[in-house]
Amino acid sequence: MKKYIPRLIIFTGPSGVGKGTILADFFKKTDKNIVYSISNTTRNPRDGEINGIHYFFVSKDEFEKMIENDLFLEYAQYSGNYYGTNKKFVDEKLKEGKSVLLEIELQGALKVMKKCPDALSIFIKPPTFQELEKRLRQRGSEDEQTIQKRLEASKEELNNANKFKYIIENDTVERAVDELIEIYNKETT
Ligand code: 5GP
Repeated sequence: MKKYIPRLIIFTGPSGVGKGTILADFFKKTDKNIVYSISNTTRNPRDGEINGIHYFFVSKDEFEKMIENDLFLEYAQYSGNYYGTNKKFVDEKLKEGKSVLLEIELQGALKVMKKCPDALSIFIKPPTFQELEKRLRQRGSEDEQTIQKRLEASKEELNNANKFKYIIENDTVERAVDELIEIYNKETT
């Protein structure tokens, strides 16, 4: 049997592209060697989001204390809120021999690429910008101002897609998940 190589995996793509849907299916289908890093955020939970599963929801003060205490591998401000990756969790899991997947936006992704050059970077892109806008609106979880902020950020993200080792187009979820599994299997053995 081939030896498993644990990897730090950066998973990035514009808001509304379908990262969450792809990952839900990926984690169902793949082996148990990989864990999802649960981020801290100052944004409010959406309907159905659970503290400690989707995010650790914290106040701005709490988040800023965590920055002072150097608890983040990376953090960024996105669309008016803080988001950050818990350094200790990532270190512990990698030491246990597990891969860790970071679902993070562009600024954070670039920081991790710099700090951890061995990290595997994957970018999810929409078939077109129009399709992205449609998906973001269909989700119905954001108000118009937030949608506009996210679309603005998306342009910047799409312009940087070529900095990632792999780009997966989310044309259909099933195909995108298959491609992700193929990349994951290839890069961890
Ligand atoms: P959302 O509010 O839609 O859950 O997330 C907004 C953006 O923040 C998404 O692109 C998501 O991947 C990203 N994000 C989530 N957690 C983190 C994190 O810990 N660090 C960074 N830099 N981005 C994150």
